[in-house]
Amino acid sequence: MIRRRKPLLDPATLPEDLGVDWSRWSDGRAYRLKKKKHFPNVEPGHARRACEAAARRMGKVARTTRDKMMPDKLIWVQFADFEIPEGQPCLRCGSRRIWRLHADFARCPSCHAQMILAQKGLDDVDEDGPAPKQKFAARLRALSNVHLERTGDTGESELYNGYAEQDDGTRVVVLAEFTLDDDEELTTENMFERITHAKVLPAHLFEGMVDVEALVARPASDWDLVL
Ligand SMILES: [Zn+2]
Repeated sequence: MIRRRKPLLDPATLPEDLGVDWSRWSDGRAYRLKKKKHFPNVEPGHARRACEAAARRMGKVARTTRDKMMPDKLIWVQFADFEIPEGQPCLRCGSRRIWRLHADFARCPSCHAQMILAQKGLDDVDEDGPAPKQKFAARLRALSNVHLERTGDTGESELYNGYAEQDDGTRVVVLAEFTLDDDEELTTENMFERITHAKVLPAHLFEGMVDVEALVARPASDWDLVL
């Protein structure tokens, strides 16, 4: 007997929160939620948006991502009290002492607020400033052996770092930024459509800061995008 997959539900036929009580996962811990168990049989991107909208109604914020291994079935959600740019004092009590829990999450030891740290986009830190995406796409296309790993997001875009090689075999460090898209994972097919910034720097500039040899030695499965 052939078991057919049930077709996905149309979210327009469901309430805005998809009928899910998202507050169950709002205590600030990270939760992995499964389609058909924790949320209905919809595209996981709809579940992510429903979760983020539910957080806003609760006066909170939520960061959500698809699971890397099972992007069609699993999402990760983590709630916080607010989102602030990295390096800013606590929005609630002004404390400058903030405990970073992991890359995007922090906690204020004075008032116990939980916060999401929005990272700076490359436009904010690159003196070259913004440019047409074709320029950045061309910059990446000119490289070979490109290995990129997702390092965070700004709330609007995803940040990737890694290494590559130029025509003459010189190793370079690559920083790249792509538009965030709830419905579609970043892939080698869509990355040139979604690129918003790319910076390519000679690896020798990072001597003592980044161990490029160690990056090159990592297995391909450690990387999110390999070109
Ligand atoms: Zn505080």
